[in-house]
Parts: sequence; structure tokens; C-alpha cells
Amino acid sequence: MGFGDFMEVSTEFPDVVKLVFRKYLSVLEGKDYPLHYVVKSIEVEFKPDDSLRRLWQLHDVALQEMWDLISEQRSGEIIGLRPKQSLLDLKICIAENIVRSCHFCENRCRVNRFAGQVGKCRCPYRVVVHSAFTHYGEESFVSPSFTIFTLGCNFHCVYCQNWRISQWYDEGTNLDYSYMAYLVDEAFDRGARNLNLYGGEPTPWIHEWLKVIKEIKKPIPILFNSNGYFTPEAQKILEGVVDIMKIDLKYGNDDCARKLSGVENYWDIVTRNTKACVGKFMLLLRHLILPNHVECCSEKILKWLSQEIEPDKYVLNIMTQYQPEYRVLRGEFPELARHVNKDEVEKVVKLAKDLGLSYIVER
Ligand code: SF4
Repeated sequence: MGFGDFMEVSTEFPDVVKLVFRKYLSVLEGKDYPLHYVVKSIEVEFKPDDSLRRLWQLHDVALQEMWDLISEQRSGEIIGLRPKQSLLDLKICIAENIVRSCHFCENRCRVNRFAGQVGKCRCPYRVVVHSAFTHYGEESFVSPSFTIFTLGCNFHCVYCQNWRISQWYDEGTNLDYSYMAYLVDEAFDRGARNLNLYGGEPTPWIHEWLKVIKEIKKPIPILFNSNGYFTPEAQKILEGVVDIMKIDLKYGNDDCARKLSGVENYWDIVTRNTKACVGKFMLLLRHLILPNHVECCSEKILKWLSQEIEPDKYVLNIMTQYQPEYRVLRGEFPELARHVNKDEVEKVVKLAKDLGLSYIVER
């Protein structure tokens, strides 16, 4: 396949992107497989009523087998096999357990969404789709990206640009998994480089996304577009399915996270998850500079990155396009009621450069 058939798109990428996203670019060139092709071909045997502990044991063994095949470059030997039960089926079974006492994210509401209860994200059991289209506004190597917007989010950011979607002001619809997969396959044929699981936040819908992915036929890589607040259990389910993990590094401390997004224990959770994703996903990190939050947030994040993660393991996009939205526009948070200024941007970019980070500045 080619890189995008119906609109001019970038095919020249910075060296750091070529390094970190080598496998992704190989898949786009038809020289490698996206992970969902492999996970569907790994055979497992389980009973849906096995204990959760037993299901996880089987899962971990099968996932290791999958990584071994990939690292030995032998996954091609099994692609196309359709076992009676696959590792993806096992992941769906485990996710169905989790959604019945929901702990996809660290809010750990423990509600039974299958039985109609909802937690902090207000997401019911069935995925609610707001819109889906081929997005040209993501990073150059990600665009065009077939992006599915779903309602609901486990965060309540006071400046959210998609607040109508994330906070349930707009309406959405339930779609068949096979129809959603058909839309993805069709977008791939038109040149989409990936399926972008957007939001709100995709974490509450993991059990549903797996069922859509099961129906996808084309070799399209999958991008999980997250705020990074998922649990280790959720992360493990995503391993071997999601090719690109995108995490927003928003805040450098818990006070800002509590005040601006309504979540607890932000720093430990998101830094833990970011580190844990190294080597298991191709890692795209984003940091949106917020006005008046350079010292407390931007600087702390960049310094942490320089100390904790090797620069060949991620790409950081430093984003400068913050604009006041949602509750900020209603006058509730005056500190955020402006764009970021030139000094703030220059300070953050200079620090990223001085620290030797793998960064780009796009959008
Ligand atoms: S995904 Fe929603 S219901 Fe589940 S733990 Fe997170 S906020 Fe609670």
C-alpha cells in the first residue's frame, strides 16, 4: 500500500520518528504486521468461567509466546491462522470481567457497568460513538488517522477542547462492532495510516474496542490516544494489541491535576504507566504547555523524562496551541484564560533541547 492516496501527506519524518516508530513505518510499507494480526493468530484454550486468576495466568503465558515470536521475527508463520480461541478472545474475556467491577482506570470505581451502573466517567457498558473521520491534524507521521470519537472521559479537564464529547453534552450512538470495523477497513483502503482510538478517553471502552478490533481485516496499526490514567490490568490487556500508545503528560504535580482535571494521585500513576509502556508499545508522548504552568508542570515533566526514559524509546510532541475552552471560558480559571506566550514556549523548548530529549514541536 502507499502512504495516503487521496490527499498530499508527509512522508519525510524526523530521524527520531524513524527510529522510535520503525516498526510502524514498516507496517505502513507492507513489510511488517500490526499487532492485531498476530494476537488473533495466537492459540489459547480457556473457559469463560475460569477464575480471573487462571485467565490472567493463561494470558501471561500466551502473551510471552507472542512477544517471543515477534522478537524472533517468526510471527509471519502464524499470521492468518484462525484458532478456535485466540489470545485476543482471552483478552476480551478478561476485559468483560473487569467491566463488571470496573477498574479500567485508577479511579477504580468498582461499578458493574454490565448491570447498568456507571462510575466517574459516566460510561455505560456499550460504547457510544460521537463521530468518526479521517483526521489530518495529528502529528505528521500519524496523519491521516482514522479517528473515532467516543463519549465520556475519566478526567474532567476544565479547559477540555472536546468538552462536549468528553463530558456528555453531545449525543452519540451505538454501532455494531462489525460496522465500525468496516469503516476502519474502508478508511485504510483510502489511505488512513492508523486507527486512532480517541475520546473523551478510550480507557473506559477497552472491552468494546477489543471486539471492534477482532472484526478488522486490514493491516492497520492501532493508536491508543490516552491521558495515561489506566490501571496496570488495563495496560496488560492492551499489550500485544495496540501498536502506538499515546500518553498526554499534562501535569507535574497532583495539586494541578486535582484542580484542573479532578483526579487524584496523578503524578505517580501517569509516570508509572509511561515507564511501564516502554518496550511494550511504540510511545508517543504529548505535552500541551498551559499558561502559567511552565515551572510547576512543563519543567517537572521534562526533567523527569530526561532522568527516567532513554531518548530512543519515545517521541515527545511539545504542543503550543492551548486555547481557553469550556469552564475557563466561563471565567472560572483566570490563570488559564489566555494563550501561551512566546516566552513560555521558548523556555520549554529550550529546556527540552538542553536536556537532550527526543522531541518535536508540531501544531
Ligand atoms: S473507566 Fe470509568 S467506571 Fe471504570 S474505573 Fe474508570 S472512571 Fe470508573
